[in-house]
Amino acid sequence: MSETETTKPRHFIQQIIDADIRAGKNNGKVATRFPPEPNGYLHIGHAKSICLNFGLAEEYNGTCNLRFDDTNPGKEKEEYVRAIINDVKWLGYDWQDRLYYASNYFEQLYDFAVELIQAGKAYVCDLDAEQVREYRGTLQEPGKNSPYRDRSVEENLDLFARMRAGEFADGEKVLRAKIDMASPNMNMRDPTLYRIRHGVIHHQTGEAWCIYPMYDYTHPISDAIEGITHSLCTLEFEDHRPLYDWVLDNISIGCHPQQIEFSRLNLQYTVVSKRKLTQLVENGHVSGWDDPRMPTLAGLRRRGFTPASIRDFCNRIGVTKSDNSVEMGVLENCIREDLNEIAPRRMAVLNPLKVVIENYPEGQVEELDAPNHPQKEEMGKRKVLFSREVYIDRDDFMEVAPNRKFKRLVAGGEVRLRNAYVIRCDEVIKDAQGEIIELRCSYDDQTHNRAPEGRKVKGVIHWVSASHGVKAQVRLYDRLFDHATPESASKEGKEFTDYLNPSSLEVLEDCYVETSLQEVAAGEIFQFEREGYFVRDPENTADGHAVFNRTVTLRDTWAKIEAGS
Ligand code: ATP
Ligand code: MG
Repeated sequence: MSETETTKPRHFIQQIIDADIRAGKNNGKVATRFPPEPNGYLHIGHAKSICLNFGLAEEYNGTCNLRFDDTNPGKEKEEYVRAIINDVKWLGYDWQDRLYYASNYFEQLYDFAVELIQAGKAYVCDLDAEQVREYRGTLQEPGKNSPYRDRSVEENLDLFARMRAGEFADGEKVLRAKIDMASPNMNMRDPTLYRIRHGVIHHQTGEAWCIYPMYDYTHPISDAIEGITHSLCTLEFEDHRPLYDWVLDNISIGCHPQQIEFSRLNLQYTVVSKRKLTQLVENGHVSGWDDPRMPTLAGLRRRGFTPASIRDFCNRIGVTKSDNSVEMGVLENCIREDLNEIAPRRMAVLNPLKVVIENYPEGQVEELDAPNHPQKEEMGKRKVLFSREVYIDRDDFMEVAPNRKFKRLVAGGEVRLRNAYVIRCDEVIKDAQGEIIELRCSYDDQTHNRAPEGRKVKGVIHWVSASHGVKAQVRLYDRLFDHATPESASKEGKEFTDYLNPSSLEVLEDCYVETSLQEVAAGEIFQFEREGYFVRDPENTADGHAVFNRTVTLRDTWAKIEAGS
């Protein structure tokens, strides 16, 4: 057990499992599963479920299976299967040889359905979808029995076999459980177990089947076949639990996992629903499932989030039964804390302003040592090139300091170039419109790694040699939505897409990064000093420049830099 697991109060699912183990239930075994439907990419909400299921298996020395819940072939794709496998691995979890598909069990599921029919607990119904709805009743009123409810076992067996053989059209017949049309729980009013779907090619079973089992029927049986002990799912399935139990109680399977519900993760300023995320992708609101603004694991990865930061986040938000919406800041803090420890420091100028150091010899170049991490010597150092012309950030110069807190460069003032020398601004060059285009400065050659004599220079700014800096594109991201809960759009008579933040992406084309960033692999993450954390994107610009995505900003930029200088 990790330190947090031993010191953190046990959440309610751990308490249930602890009690089961004390009672000797399941021979003390813990077996969980993560059951995604391959109809989209995984998002941060799924991460909560993954960390919970795989985390419990680890903690109790049990097992966790990866199982695709693939009973809905029309919406599922092999692309999603591959992406999900990749994302769960990336998060750092291992299902060993236990990768399963509900479709692996189609034959068994069929046999159990036959068993239910033989026991008089399932029947073939000819009502169409509209009629089924009418017969179902409402929360206030009981439903009515289907006129087909009392078909004989023989007739049902024959019709069900013919459904499988493809004799009926989509919607012409369904197989239903015979439970109770007056149950106060709508899920128990003779729910559909099988429906007919022609003309779809299932990503695993191809065209072998034209009838497909429903989720509520498939899920408990798949869990039982795999010997799952604790079947964890989100709260919306609470009302389905009686059906989960009914299915297992009425077939000869000899294993009855316990379904336990926990609350979904909701994250502010984004949406966590594959259906909505699919809409964003398909309607071109984002560049794809891995757009760095997406709350998908693929998007977060491309944004520079580490698996450790996401696991830490899932651990911090906890597991409860109450609905909640977590602030984006919680997720951002997790990545900040992780990257602060592990990201090498680099210098990059996002809004360049040229500085000519007039007393620095023309053509001279110095290789100066720069530590990769201010507190971690073991991370080593690299060379940064210093020359007569450098770029600094436009925001680091003002002709006149706006207030006493402004410690950067001003006309006539001095500032330290990080890892290099103190410079003084002697002259400000402007274009015809009055815009500052260049600074003329001088440097004090006695100030490399040394305080200037007889005066104080407080400010430290970053820079890049103009003749050695590498041009790069930097993408800055803001929240994808400008509403904390875009999911509530329908309550306000709107579409969730009405709340998309029009300025969630800002592209800076003319940035300069230090030479050491020229050849870095996609996915490598750095702290650009005073600017934030940035990850090398897999893409280059059309003219071949590297692209960096800002993962997250730094907080307290100034406090940190000044303390460290
Ligand atoms: P979505 O609404 O995004 O499609 P889903 O529940 O239909 O989500 P599944 O692929 O069926 O997606 O989910 C796999 C598992 O992940 C389920 O056990 C589900 O309960 C869990 N899960 C999905 N979304 C969340 C969430 N926001 N928070 C916690 N667990 C989640
Ligand atoms: Mg689902």
